[in-house]
Amino acid sequence: MTAYTIRLYGDPVLRQRAPEVRDIDGRLKALSDDMVQTMYEAPGVGLAAPQVGVQKRVFVYDLHDDLGPRTIVNPVISEARGEWTYDEGCLSIPGLAWEIVRPKEIHLTGRDLDGNEISIEADEYEARVYQHEVDHLDGILLVERLDEDQRKEAMRILRARALHLPGDDPDGLRRLVGTDGTGSPEAPDHPGL
Ligand code: ZN
Repeated sequence: MTAYTIRLYGDPVLRQRAPEVRDIDGRLKALSDDMVQTMYEAPGVGLAAPQVGVQKRVFVYDLHDDLGPRTIVNPVISEARGEWTYDEGCLSIPGLAWEIVRPKEIHLTGRDLDGNEISIEADEYEARVYQHEVDHLDGILLVERLDEDQRKEAMRILRARALHLPGDDPDGLRRLVGTDGTGSPEAPDHPGL
């Protein structure tokens, strides 16, 4: 297995809707293996194919339960209920997290790597992982799920990162962002998605 490099915020591949997988074959299994490896090395709990530059509707995840790493092909969220707030981070936007409200319970369907139909009722954290990964397949990053104030702060930090920070640092962004992202006050204390 080979780990990919995770694509970061600003990479156009993260903004495109990935097309459906047509063939569940050996190539897809190999992609899944490499994505799982990449996810573990990050470390993360979930990873979608566009995050490694592959335009296919597939994601991998590991909830650290008895089931180990799993792959969902062509996932669809068919129902969503309630609201749940969670401090959500993303492997493509390392070192940052924001409290985001999303549906608490969802129904997810799709296929596994053997082509079998999958139907999962999920809530809270598990439901959050699926919603985050399906967003990636639709070209949506979590910054688009922020409220106005959160988004302003996010854009300020991400713009500063893109500019590698000015030498005089008039807004104190160096302190906000940190050299590796860990200096941010928003740094999550849990693995990203
Ligand atoms: Zn993500």
